[in-house]
Amino acid sequence: MLGFVRRLLGLAAPAPEISAEHWQRVERTLPFLDYLPPQDRGRLRDMALELLRRKEFHGAQGLQLDDDMLLAIALQACLPVLNIGLQAYDGWVGVVVYPGDFVIPRRIVDEAGVLHEYDDEVLGEAWEGGPVLLSWFGEDDGPAGVNVVIHEFAHKLDMENGGVDGLPRLRPGMSRAAWADAFEDAYVAFCDEVDRGAETDIDPYGAEHPGEFFAVVSEAFFETPGRLRARFPAVYAQLAQFYGLDPAARELRERAGATSEEPPHG
Ligand SMILES: [Zn+2]
Repeated sequence: MLGFVRRLLGLAAPAPEISAEHWQRVERTLPFLDYLPPQDRGRLRDMALELLRRKEFHGAQGLQLDDDMLLAIALQACLPVLNIGLQAYDGWVGVVVYPGDFVIPRRIVDEAGVLHEYDDEVLGEAWEGGPVLLSWFGEDDGPAGVNVVIHEFAHKLDMENGGVDGLPRLRPGMSRAAWADAFEDAYVAFCDEVDRGAETDIDPYGAEHPGEFFAVVSEAFFETPGRLRARFPAVYAQLAQFYGLDPAARELRERAGATSEEPPHG
């Protein structure tokens, strides 16, 4: 990573040349990028390089960040802001990447003044005005249907207008009332499903808090958009306006294309 990152962090350094083969190798590990309109792929790549220039990436606990990891993280981090703009991530610089899930020591003083210390196993964390902490899983190593990068960067979008409350700064023309209606109804229904112990298509961690619900449905919006649209159509419609994308429509087209054009495999 060394030459690459130094070039990226050096203020005067020109954009490094990443070959088409190199991009394709990284993007193959992120199949949900196929739900983007094909003409957006180049814009996403440019934005990813710009993010790598603007932010400082550090490997923690001895993790060596190589070019493929940096590009994969940057592509996923930029996906939510492709049509919002990188300025939504202004005001902080650090991205810390841990190997696998990691432990954060917590200290909380309760109402009785008692200090509780415990270790919290987490996949990621976003601090308001501070860094994003991510865990890196090798290919096929991470929990299914979970996207830590999109999750933490969705929290950053939520924090842009203060706090983690599940209400990010909406785009012009969007209605806060429509957002609240869609999200409140879905959150109540989702918490009920999780409380009943029902199988949910969406990560049950979303029932923790409305802010977590926004982050979790954002993961689903990009990774399994058809499922999200079927389960929570009003939430999907709000996210489609917010992110300026309609991945479920492309997912259907991809699937149809894959079944009609791909030669049969043994
Ligand atoms: Zn979270």
